[in-house]
Amino acid sequence: MSARVLVVDDVWVNRRLLEAKLTAEYYEVAMAASGAEALAMVAKWSPDVVLLDVMMPEMDGFETCRALKNNLATAHIPVVMVTALIDRSERVRGLEAGADDFLSKPVDDATLFARLRALLRTKQVQDAWRLRAETARQLGVEPPSRPLAAVAGSAVLVLADPAEAAEVGACLHADGAVPTLVGTVEEAVAALAAPGGRFDLAILCLPATGTEHLRLASRLKAQHATRDLPVLLVADPAQRDLVLRGFEIGASDYVLRPTDGNELRARARNQIRRRRYEERLRTDLDRSLELAVSDPLTGLRNRRFVQHHLEAALRAGDVSVLMIDVDRFKAINDGHGHAAGDTVLREVADRLRSQLRAADVVARYGGEEFLVVLADAPPEEAVAIAERLRAALERTPIPTDSGEASVTVSIGLAITPVGVSAGEAVAAADKALYRAKELGRNRVEVAHSPLRAPPPTQSSG
Ligand SMILES: [Mg+2]
Repeated sequence: MSARVLVVDDVWVNRRLLEAKLTAEYYEVAMAASGAEALAMVAKWSPDVVLLDVMMPEMDGFETCRALKNNLATAHIPVVMVTALIDRSERVRGLEAGADDFLSKPVDDATLFARLRALLRTKQVQDAWRLRAETARQLGVEPPSRPLAAVAGSAVLVLADPAEAAEVGACLHADGAVPTLVGTVEEAVAALAAPGGRFDLAILCLPATGTEHLRLASRLKAQHATRDLPVLLVADPAQRDLVLRGFEIGASDYVLRPTDGNELRARARNQIRRRRYEERLRTDLDRSLELAVSDPLTGLRNRRFVQHHLEAALRAGDVSVLMIDVDRFKAINDGHGHAAGDTVLREVADRLRSQLRAADVVARYGGEEFLVVLADAPPEEAVAIAERLRAALERTPIPTDSGEASVTVSIGLAITPVGVSAGEAVAAADKALYRAKELGRNRVEVAHSPLRAPPPTQSSG
């Protein structure tokens, strides 16, 4: 994967050193010599990761990090603080500023590349969600903004021996998170599989031989239900190789023993917040997308959706388009009232839907107009379906609060070969519908001259 890394350091030789390491591993590298330069560069170059020196004159690393994380346009870009300080309170300060990780100077290559890979993986997931949010925005749906801190009530699975479990559990309690403490890998698997076994974070505290724990981590990442569950490792400094392997497998973060409570809490909070934001994005987007493509009165797809769908269907194969109009709808509205008119439209929608196959799409196209797209229906079958829809309305009057309404529909059918435009297909169906109206309503008319696909373009070569 070729990813873009922005290296920020006020000392020229430090920048060059990191640049050499990164380019040797095929990363794209840009450099900035100050916090202000870094902010400008991020806006201009959209890096995938920022490696940020802490000690810089004027705007230091903490301030630069806060500025990046407080800006919605750049908050998703992972920031790794590079520091000679190993002071724990400084680390916590960095985490509170929104840093995603720390590397100590001089930078160890294996750790650097393992961390970069882990952060880039997380960013890929976030990028996929951002793309989806962008699609929603194009459909007129505003995705939720990044939420504030709340970690309270989140569920955390802790796999550790009893003494360490108690220690980690107490840290989580302090933030209002709800830990489930387990002592063995088997118990962890059972807790994950239990009904309601939904977790926001898994903390795996590695014992002297941690291979079984890593196998669990790898299993979590392989299974669909737990793939997005962040995994935080707690390990001894001597277990560096295990931690690096953990990152290869998909662990999101780690804390070294002796565990500093504030650091563990800050790292756990970062993971939980990210996870919760992704979940919220997913449910909110699904719901708003559903609203954006549905007609509120009938629950059918709306015009916007069916136009997109028809274009896609016509690129894929032959399609039949049915334009359906309720006959003398104005008279129903005038005679029975607007509430009855709405009842009629809902019932027409239900009857159309009940006569169609799962793969067909029926949409409310306008006031009392409906559009059906049949994929893969031979002409005779399309005509039969249209006739069945017409009969389903004529057969039984529709009960409304102000008496029964006899309702019929007229249908224009266009059988459209692949390659014809959606606009032409709809226009042909519309024209046939007009003829059905002229010929007395309550009937199906098929578009006269079959539409022709455009001749295949001459390909050169
Ligand atoms: Mg410096």
